[in-house]
Amino acid sequence: STHENWTAVDSYLTSTLDLLDPALDNALKSSAAAGLPHIEVSAPAGRLLRLLAELQGARRILEIGTLGGFSTINLARGLAEGGRVVTLEYDPHHAEVAAANIEAAGLTDRVEIRIGKALDTLPQLELEGREPFDLAFIDADKQNNPNYVRWALRLCRPGALIVVDNVIRNGGVLDPNGDDTIQGTRATLELIESEPRLLGTAVQTVGAKGWDGFALARVLD
Ligand code: SAM
Repeated sequence: STHENWTAVDSYLTSTLDLLDPALDNALKSSAAAGLPHIEVSAPAGRLLRLLAELQGARRILEIGTLGGFSTINLARGLAEGGRVVTLEYDPHHAEVAAANIEAAGLTDRVEIRIGKALDTLPQLELEGREPFDLAFIDADKQNNPNYVRWALRLCRPGALIVVDNVIRNGGVLDPNGDDTIQGTRATLELIESEPRLLGTAVQTVGAKGWDGFALARVLD
C-alpha cells in the first residue's frame, strides 16, 4: 500500500542519511519501553528541526510538547554554543523519560524541562523576563495551537522561526466541522495569514507517520 511505501522510504532515508545515532535510537527504544505513545517526529523531520535551529543560529529554543525528548535532542544538537532548549511537558512521566534520554545523549546542560500545562508555564517564562527565543517548535495539544502561536510571538525575537507540527492530519484540515484539534489547526493557519508580524507557509509531508505536514512562520521585524 501507499503507506507501506512511505514507511519504507522513511527507513531508507533514515539509514542512508544516518539519521538515527545511538542516542536518538535509545530515546525511541526507552520511550517505547516506558509505554509512551509513538507520536514523536520522524527521524528525517527530527534532522530538519536540527537544521532549522542551525540556520537560525539559535541560542534559545522553545519547545511545547516534549514526550520522550526525541525532537528535543535534535533541537539541542542544533543549538549554537552556550544555547539552551526550554521544553514544556504536561505529563510528569513523559518528562521523566525525556530527562533520562536527554541525559543519555549528554545534553542535560543544554535542556530545561518545565512540567505543567504549557498555558501555565508560558506565563511563568514571560515573568522570568529572559532573553527572547530564536526558534519555537509547537507540538502538544493541537486545540491550543493558536494560543501557542500567540505565546511564541510574545516570547520570540524578530527574525525568529515558529514551527507547528501536524497541520494536515490525513487531510483532516479540510473539514471546517472537524474536531477541536482540527479547529485549532485551521485557526492557527488563519492566524499565521492574518497576523502582520508573521510570514508563513505550510508543507504537506508523507512518511512513516502517514500524511501530515508542518507550518513555518517567521516573526518579522
Ligand atoms: N515533540 C515530541 C517529539 O517529536 O519527540 C512529541 C510531542 S507529543 C506529539 C505531544 C506531547 O505534548 C505529549 O507528551 C503530551 O503529554 C504533551 N502535552 C499535551 N498537552 C499538553 C499541554 N497542555 N501542555 C504541555 N504539554 C502537553
